[in-house]
Amino acid sequence: MRASERTPFAVKGFQPLTARVFYHISTCFLNSFGTKEVEFGRNLWYAMLEVLLGMNEIEKNGCPQRRACGGCQLQNMSYAEQLLYKQKKEVSLLGRFGHVEEIMGMDHPLHYRNKVHAAFGLDRNRRVVSGIYQPGSHAIVPVDACMIEDELADKIIVSIRKLLPAFKIQVYDERSGSGWLRHVLVRRGFATGQVMVVLVAVSPIFKLQKPFLAKLLTLHPEISTVVLNINDRFGPVVLGRRDKVIYGPGYIEDVLCGKRYRISPSSFYQINPAQTEKLYSAAVEFAGLTGKETVLDAYCGIGTIGLTASDRAKQVIGVELNGDAVKDAIVNARLNGVKNCWFTQGDAGKYMEQMVSDGHRPDVVFMDPPRSGSDERFIGSLLKAAPKRIVYVSCNPETLARDLDMICQGGYRVQRIQPVDMFPYTNHVETVCLLSRNK
Ligand code: SAH
Repeated sequence: MRASERTPFAVKGFQPLTARVFYHISTCFLNSFGTKEVEFGRNLWYAMLEVLLGMNEIEKNGCPQRRACGGCQLQNMSYAEQLLYKQKKEVSLLGRFGHVEEIMGMDHPLHYRNKVHAAFGLDRNRRVVSGIYQPGSHAIVPVDACMIEDELADKIIVSIRKLLPAFKIQVYDERSGSGWLRHVLVRRGFATGQVMVVLVAVSPIFKLQKPFLAKLLTLHPEISTVVLNINDRFGPVVLGRRDKVIYGPGYIEDVLCGKRYRISPSSFYQINPAQTEKLYSAAVEFAGLTGKETVLDAYCGIGTIGLTASDRAKQVIGVELNGDAVKDAIVNARLNGVKNCWFTQGDAGKYMEQMVSDGHRPDVVFMDPPRSGSDERFIGSLLKAAPKRIVYVSCNPETLARDLDMICQGGYRVQRIQPVDMFPYTNHVETVCLLSRNK
């Protein structure tokens, strides 16, 4: 859905502020009639306003955790306003490189997160709480439901918290260093329905593991695997290095752009699959593949972009720093019967340098670095390799602009800039950018 499609009144003429004032005045007026007889008519009127103004429950009332949480920075805007805000941000940061196409928005922008993380701890009254860390602190904001998280994942986390006393599970207390359970992570394959629960604890000893699992699975038969992750280190990192699979295969699968993917507890996997399909389709379209190209998928994660492009390329080489993700990528190629993709573990810059010094040159390079962007080592050797086209997928327009400057100085021109809203209600925005070599 495009910015201009969803709430025509909010965008053209009928301004959001006017809409809101109108809504609140009519709400106050109708609320002054308290009898049951007018209730039906009142609800009908509200529903009509919602359709006309494009407001949903959260847009009207806001999220109950909004002050303490800080996760959804744009929740005081309607979805159409958010899209316009992001469009403007992209134009101001990237407009100097060329025309910024209209942002691809989401049809249903709520509960899109397929991965939910809850920290477990004690509040001031030593009651068990689960939720998210308050920004800049280690105090936990209790969260039982969230407007952007998967609803089933939230329910599973609440169930786990409620089961703790019956199974004598103590939560970890950072101050005293006592207790066992630190975090719960739930990942869900929206296309397959598979659900992974990761219990992050300080030790592998789980006394009442069997009865606990039996109860949890009775409450949530949708769970397909449970992993115990051991994290005994102090610090901000959620997952420790050791995994112990205590139920099911230890991973889940999901389907994206017609291909099946295995996802392990620590592998990076895009958190909004509906929008990821739009993002990858744009990236593959921009690459303009004919079946003859050698493609490099740099920062490849579990291989999703390279595998999506593999049907239209001669061969794809993926490079990624996280060893578990590379293992998943190799399995993913096999799972989909793809025979022209290879994946390797390592720093993308170092790999690119080696490739150039070995005299290999990819025809097309996909690059999808983390928020901090790419680095001089990678971009330096990318320019030496001089591929015909570069498709840059970025989750941070600021570092994208910095890197585009460097790539353009090295003889490339930006041809397309397509923003995609991967994270509604937050101020993050994803961009796909096509660059081609100056003749
Ligand atoms: N393209 C993938 C992953 C993108 S996220 C997808 O769409 O799902 C960025 C990825 O870059 C992460 O998997 C991270 O582990 C990896 N990464 C971070 N620094 C890296 C580096 N220096 N070299 C290679 N990969 C790196």
